Amino acid sequence: MRVAYVNGRYLRHRDASVHVEDRGFQFADGVYEVIAVIDGRLVDRDGHVDRLERSMAAIGLAPRVERRVLVLVINEVARRNRLTNGLIYLQVTRGTAPRDFPFPNPARRSTLVITAKPVADIRREGLAADGIAVITIPDVRWRRRDIKTVALVPQVLGKQRAHDAGAYEAWQVEDDGLVTEGCSSNAFIVTADGRLVTRPPSPAILNGITRLSVLDLAARERVPVEPRPFTVAEAKAAAEAFLTSASHVVVPVVRIDDTVIGDGRPGPLTRRLRAAYLEAAAAEPRAVGR
Ligand code: PMP
Repeated sequence: MRVAYVNGRYLRHRDASVHVEDRGFQFADGVYEVIAVIDGRLVDRDGHVDRLERSMAAIGLAPRVERRVLVLVINEVARRNRLTNGLIYLQVTRGTAPRDFPFPNPARRSTLVITAKPVADIRREGLAADGIAVITIPDVRWRRRDIKTVALVPQVLGKQRAHDAGAYEAWQVEDDGLVTEGCSSNAFIVTADGRLVTRPPSPAILNGITRLSVLDLAARERVPVEPRPFTVAEAKAAAEAFLTSASHVVVPVVRIDDTVIGDGRPGPLTRRLRAAYLEAAAAEPRAVGR
């Protein structure tokens, strides 16, 4: 049976709900995280919990449970759902209160929801084999994209535009022509001389946990890294391109708008970093299963 955790209780997923006056529903006044489970292992769990704490602090949300308990519950949700391959989703909101913009006074306990979703091909072998197409769109989001809030309408519209164009992701672009990131992923390119280029952390992007792990692996493998923004034109002329996210690991990008990247096949550095990431994930402690 699929199980969801809601404010201290484990419920049948299909019966799980929060109140209509929850501030997540009313104002998107909340933050979230997504953690992949690959072969029963929670990948980069501590990095995701760290970032959840940073996102909560950034919008003034007090934790409902202490970190040790949160980690126990994450493991328990994975275990109860027998989640060997899939995604753990966490959302924290400012709780339930009559609808009014300022923080509720007195403060309400934050809402904490944790769900599990099986994804058979969580390694995304299907996408990785041939690579994906991305489109480019204007970045119309607010200026605190480093906070992982549930206010995702710009990304919903961007992904739908990608979908309508027969692409998989949309890379968002600032007025200065520089790519910020995908709608739910970070963007990387590889130059003709084999340098890995990705935008450095700032309020302009979400500093992906997968992004950080891939950069660590690149450093370990002595791949030259240039942390800097790049333009759409530079991306289209790149030797390789790829995206990273917890839910998609490392996925090669072989087309940007109407331009084929490199020879149109997943590039060698992309494949190497993807393999290194999956190998590191396989060394994490097992949360579910044998
Ligand atoms: N940027 C945005 C806007 C995202 O939504 C995500 C995925 N949640 C990422 C980057 C990738 O972050 P992570 O590697 O931590 O999943």
